[in-house]
Amino acid sequence: MIPASPLPPQPVVDWRLAWRQSLTDPRQLLARLALADRADELLAAVDTGFAMRVPESYLRRMRPGDADDPLLRQVLPAAAELQAAPGYGTDAVGDLAASRAPGVIHKYHGRVLLIATGACAINCRYCFRRHFPYADELAARDRWRAALDYIAGDDSVQEVILSGGDPLALATGKLAEFTDALAGIGHVRSLRLHTRLPIVLPERVDAALLAWLGGLPWPVTVVVHANHGNEIDEQTSAALHALRDGGAHLLNQSVLLAGVNDSLPALEQLSWRLHQAATLPYYLHLLDKVAGAAHFHVDEVAARHLHAQLRARLPGYLLPRLVREIAGEPAKTPL
Ligand SMILES: *Cc1c(COP(=O)(O)O)cnc(C)c1O
Ligand code: SF4
Repeated sequence: MIPASPLPPQPVVDWRLAWRQSLTDPRQLLARLALADRADELLAAVDTGFAMRVPESYLRRMRPGDADDPLLRQVLPAAAELQAAPGYGTDAVGDLAASRAPGVIHKYHGRVLLIATGACAINCRYCFRRHFPYADELAARDRWRAALDYIAGDDSVQEVILSGGDPLALATGKLAEFTDALAGIGHVRSLRLHTRLPIVLPERVDAALLAWLGGLPWPVTVVVHANHGNEIDEQTSAALHALRDGGAHLLNQSVLLAGVNDSLPALEQLSWRLHQAATLPYYLHLLDKVAGAAHFHVDEVAARHLHAQLRARLPGYLLPRLVREIAGEPAKTPL
């Protein structure tokens, strides 16, 4: 449980330093978790082509000695990733077809999503990002010019969503460069960030970021991404509270993942922990059919059943909407 008493002050660590100190060697990760003797059994014998990356603070939230830890499962390369599965491809949700300019994905009315950067602080094994051709598709390239031109040229765009990769992997100055220019576009009335960094690298929520957020001329919504309650420890909770106190609306999206959060207790605990961290559940996504992620799949019948049970247990405002993304649809599809 997260104590209700005021949190102790956190030591100030430069987030880039914390990022650079991430673990990239699976054997080292297992050794740190007292699982060195199971390395041969657990690790993929063949290179999966998608490196491991785990920040230290995220490692500290895993349970030593538990190979089934729900955080470890999200990041440890597994032999199952190499198995081809029918229907699992490299552009699961039609992002490339919806790309309007470098890094600009305009699928839904009024909202434009920018692939700000391909960089991210962690590598989640189920991520579509492992296949995205980022080199061609970055909104932050060339001082955001193409993205800004696109937004200025379409006055139906009311909300701009910074996504990625992870937009908070960009320097705060780079983000400010964008929002300074965006402020000159009159029809934009809302800014959103889709980011997992406050969860996986809470050091990122520093004074400079909060000062930038506090100075923005629009309502700002920060949609974080946590899949399991254990991801929200005191440090994460403090980062989320700081964002909230800095004026952001905080929502969470998660992905329903086999062996990580596909149980009633796990989903219930996640909602309550989010609530304690000033964040409301928004979406619970069915997994996009990304090649290499089939072993995380939860079928739709099981997902609906879990969601119905969850509805019977939680206050309405702590119930995430169960959705899937279907290419060509005008919004996420509720189940
Ligand atoms: C999911 C998504 C959005 C945001 O949808 P909301 O339902 O408003 O959260 C916007 N653009 C794209 C391309 C998306 O995939
Ligand atoms: S944080 Fe998001 S973008 Fe980064 S690897 Fe995980 S799922 Fe992908």
